[in-house]
Amino acid sequence: MSKIIQAIRGMNDILPDQAQLWELFEDAVRDWLRAYGYRPIRMPVLERTELFVRSIGEVTDIVEKEMYTFVDQLSGESLTLRPEATASCVRAAIEHNLLYPGPQRLYYSGPMFRHERPQKGRYRQFHQIGVEALGYAGPDIDAEHIVMCARLWRTLGVGDVALELNTLGSDGARSRYRTRLVKYLEQHAAELDDDSRRRLRSNPLRVLDSKNPALRELIDNAPRMTDDMDAASLQHFEGVQSLLREAGVAYRLNPRLVRGLDYYNFTVYEWVTGSLGAQGTVCAGGRYDGLVEQIGGKPAPACGFAMGVERLIELMQHAQLARAAPAPDVYIAHQGETAGHFAFRAAEQLRDRGLTVVFDCSGGSFKSQMKKADASGARYAVIVGDDEVRAQQVSVKPLRETGEQRRCAVAQAADMIKLSEAE
Ligand code: ATP
Ligand code: MG
Repeated sequence: MSKIIQAIRGMNDILPDQAQLWELFEDAVRDWLRAYGYRPIRMPVLERTELFVRSIGEVTDIVEKEMYTFVDQLSGESLTLRPEATASCVRAAIEHNLLYPGPQRLYYSGPMFRHERPQKGRYRQFHQIGVEALGYAGPDIDAEHIVMCARLWRTLGVGDVALELNTLGSDGARSRYRTRLVKYLEQHAAELDDDSRRRLRSNPLRVLDSKNPALRELIDNAPRMTDDMDAASLQHFEGVQSLLREAGVAYRLNPRLVRGLDYYNFTVYEWVTGSLGAQGTVCAGGRYDGLVEQIGGKPAPACGFAMGVERLIELMQHAQLARAAPAPDVYIAHQGETAGHFAFRAAEQLRDRGLTVVFDCSGGSFKSQMKKADASGARYAVIVGDDEVRAQQVSVKPLRETGEQRRCAVAQAADMIKLSEAE
């Protein structure tokens, strides 16, 4: 026998039991997005490397060490599997002039790729649902994003998710803060680790995002961003907060929250749960007013967020609220060639009437087919043998409740099964 070929480390198959849960999640997400007026957009998973370098920033974990980048053999171009999709979404909006008629509320969903150390909640191919509002400047849209997340957590039944909120302020506020922070970090240069020392010059705010526990105290004592805020920054932030208060969404201000990507300004936030161990951030986002121009578009304000689907599904399972995937309405058992053909047509007729139907393909005895019917979770078995074919009828047997087996025409069987569903 030849050696088994396995999937790539950190890239998971999502098997049927799990994938059914994914679909329930995706259905809920789609209804939720529609309720807020967001429209879908789909971008390729492969983009020019330059797009991510320019948007996410050269001195970030993602660009420095997590991207799947390769040179295309044919064109000689450097390409990258998308590590996130905000940049792709903005690129697509610019390329197709989507903002010409006015602002756009968009969402996407799909796989992202980052070469990280795989562990629970951290994979090399993972999935995000991302929401981007392009062309909107006011704090109301920041608040809308947060309020809509809160609604989704309620819908999914995941209670244990808390909101951490911060503002990075305007460009001016950020550069004033940057100067103060660099001064502070330089005074403590000896205590920094290699990554942070390097970032001190290139991207000092990112030092605050360090996950190294040894730097905890140093970071806690660093100057606060709040002190450098100008009136416009404070006004925007207060605008967001007042809408959240009115909507009854609780939050914790976290002045250390900077986010790992370069493009953010003003509002930034993360939704964090205590139920998943170390990988507790299930959703993150904020405002990125400079990005559209940075990627080559006409300047336009924007904000958005992305959630980690694997982590949210894990959380749903954790909360044991993951409802079992719906079982079929009907399992069709049949015996004999003519009966098989009749049953095959009957299955289609039942589906025409809106029922979900699993047709037995095992060719086993009636007894074994009935066992399969039971295991499928179906509410009814529809049985076809020679007697039924002669009468041009089917036998209907309730599987989940007591009740007589009855014989009737297919259309009547469908009515009866549908009626019992409504009860
Ligand atoms: P982290 O600090 O956990 O590395 P991040 O700041 O790199 O997260 P973002 O780029 O903000 O993450 O992505 C948004 C969300 O996507 C995260 O909050 C998380 O839920 C999810 N996510 C990010 N990277 C991974 C991964 N490697 N595996 C699974 N989910 C991920
Ligand atoms: Mg990361």
